[in-house]
Amino acid sequence: MNILEVKNLTKRFSGLVAVNDLSFEVEEHSIHALIGPNGSGKTTTINMIGGVFPPSEGQILFNGSDITKKNTHEIARLGLGRTFQNIKLFNSLTVEENLMVGGHMSYAKSGIVNFFFDFRNARREETALREETHRVLEFMHLEEIAKRQVGGLPYGMLKMVELARTMMTNPRLILLDEPAAGLNPSERRELIDILARIYEGGVTLFLIEHNMDVVMNISHVITVINFGSKIAEGAPVEIQNNPEVIRAYLGD
Ligand code: ADP
Repeated sequence: MNILEVKNLTKRFSGLVAVNDLSFEVEEHSIHALIGPNGSGKTTTINMIGGVFPPSEGQILFNGSDITKKNTHEIARLGLGRTFQNIKLFNSLTVEENLMVGGHMSYAKSGIVNFFFDFRNARREETALREETHRVLEFMHLEEIAKRQVGGLPYGMLKMVELARTMMTNPRLILLDEPAAGLNPSERRELIDILARIYEGGVTLFLIEHNMDVVMNISHVITVINFGSKIAEGAPVEIQNNPEVIRAYLGD
């Protein structure tokens, strides 16, 4: 079954065609990468899937439902998580608090009115949220920094915290925007390990990524785009040996 279907997606910015009639499918419980040279349309594509802006043409189906015109919050509520290249965390809060804020959307269903009128229910939800936070911190190997303020953490750790916060929403699919960017080799190995464990936990991963080691290491399927259009798709070994892909990257 396909968890994500991108059908004939086009995005125009004024005169420029950033994404051009792009179609691909992401199979449920797979790791799927979208790669391509700089300016080929990867960020534009992931932004359309995540609801940052709508496509000019085409359709996006998540788990069979049309999400083409939905905004980021509606899409997140459906179970589509996202990490950003420019990390979006609350610097003055601790790691644990950031996770709790991330999970709040999916747990605090009773809202502010019920909080006052149904205190017991709110209490139950808070307990569930704390338990889930603890579970995610443990899963992501972040318990040791749970009480640290996010503002003082090194960049590699921030990326892990952001991923952990996304896990708090219990996503079925996570969109990862350049997860390896800015990481040193040992952090990259840790990332590969964490992503593999998230996948083994039943989550589908869709990433755009520059680092070919990471892409070739973890992806089951790779879609390659150039000038906004698909030029190749397949398993890592097929992509590595595809003459058109090599040409696109070497730029002749
Ligand atoms: P990639 O992520 O593969 O580097 P992008 O999706 O960022 O590529 O960009 C694809 C093309 O669209 C580039 O030519 C870029 O300059 C252009 N582009 C991206 N965003 C905008 C925008 N908001 N306005 C105008 N042009 C844009």
